Amino acid sequence: MADPILSVRGLSSGYGDFQALFDVSFDLAEASVLGVVGANGAGKSTLFKSIMGLLPRGGDMVAFRGKPIGHVRSDRMARLGIVMVPEGRRLFRSLTVEENLNIAADHGRKGDWSPRRVYDLFPILGEKRRQQATQLSGGQQQMVAIGRALVANPDVVLFDEISLGLAPIVVNDVYAALPKIIETGISAVVVEQDVDRVMKLADSLVCLVEGHVALSGAASEFTKAQLTAAYFGEEPA
Ligand code: ATP
Repeated sequence: MADPILSVRGLSSGYGDFQALFDVSFDLAEASVLGVVGANGAGKSTLFKSIMGLLPRGGDMVAFRGKPIGHVRSDRMARLGIVMVPEGRRLFRSLTVEENLNIAADHGRKGDWSPRRVYDLFPILGEKRRQQATQLSGGQQQMVAIGRALVANPDVVLFDEISLGLAPIVVNDVYAALPKIIETGISAVVVEQDVDRVMKLADSLVCLVEGHVALSGAASEFTKAQLTAAYFGEEPA
């Protein structure tokens, strides 16, 4: 692999005395998609929170373009070039679509991604840009959450279960945007429970089981049966 843009090395993390991640390591290649799968409670959100500095992470456990970033505070990560689309979206509900995007743009970096470009990607948001987030459907809110990540002009986006709670047809619309985002040079880590979807989308895969990496490598190396078996914690045949 070319030099990775994001590296996780021996990451252990948790909540007080409870350890949720054990010695997790992987690399994200530039302009690629890494899929992270695992059952409920496997540690996927904990992984993202640790990378973002919302949970403690040791100094050398996360590196960005080869430099350790364990000391970087969570509120500085967007300026560094790493943003997260969190599970549950977390929009400012009383603000309009445009206001949500503008706030995120103010906390990010300068670059080509603007609210206008987000409206090109998701035209429905352009139509609804003066509406409050509460007036949008779940899928539209998810598009705002993705747009908010993009207007920070990141190099890396961590997508946490963007399909959660959405109807299948809406999930297709949301996921259709991902290749267009990657084409612009952004690298992505995508947490997703739908194994079929991840296998279609990702260049490389990590499967977490109870906080441990049960399987990792190029997506082309694995069959669906192997990934599903790892997901359920079965030993390889
Ligand atoms: P899901 O798909 O359900 O979101 P996940 O793979 O993202 O699951 P995590 O949310 O990372 O899993 O949880 C990993 C472990 O950490 C679980 O055992 C969970 O109960 C525990 N955990 C998560 N959040 C907290 C918290 N705030 N305090 C204590 N334990 C937590």
